[in-house]
Amino acid sequence: METTLSIIKPDGVRRNLIGKIFAKIEDKGLRIAATKMIHLSKKQAEMFYAVHKERPFYGELVESMTSGPVVVSVLQGANAIANYREVMGATNPAEAAAGTIRKEFAVSIGENTVHGSDAPETATTEVNFFFAASEIPNKE
Ligand code: ATP
Ligand code: MG
Repeated sequence: METTLSIIKPDGVRRNLIGKIFAKIEDKGLRIAATKMIHLSKKQAEMFYAVHKERPFYGELVESMTSGPVVVSVLQGANAIANYREVMGATNPAEAAAGTIRKEFAVSIGENTVHGSDAPETATTEVNFFFAASEIPNKE
């Protein structure tokens, strides 16, 4: 059993895609263990994506991540990290496989509708960034 963090980015929430994205997650056999809607502050978005601080798209990324509410979720299941990244599809929607969230819904490489953790260590950090233990049923 593995845990990962999912974010439905503002472009996905804005276009009423929460249900369709949750359906793809659940159809893949992943469990939505905890979820909530929040509007990230500039500070939170900068901290969350700090690893990309030196990249040319950082400012644009922080701006789009704070442009409206997001839905953050804890996903659990066998190989949850890799499985969710498979459902998400490639970062650039032009390269994403058929049936993936980004292929079907992403607007561009920047506004690519979803985020998913990329390794066990980042998954732990990212879940703790958004959720208290008391917010994750069965985790206390
Ligand atoms: P995420 O971390 O959001 O799950 P990812 O792991 O597929 O996506 P990263 O390389 O970690 O991709 O990039 C983080 C985010 O930064 C991307 O999801 C995208 O929103 C944005 N981004 C990445 N590359 C570019 C780019 N070349 N131009 C604009 N935005 C980009
Ligand atoms: Mg990433």
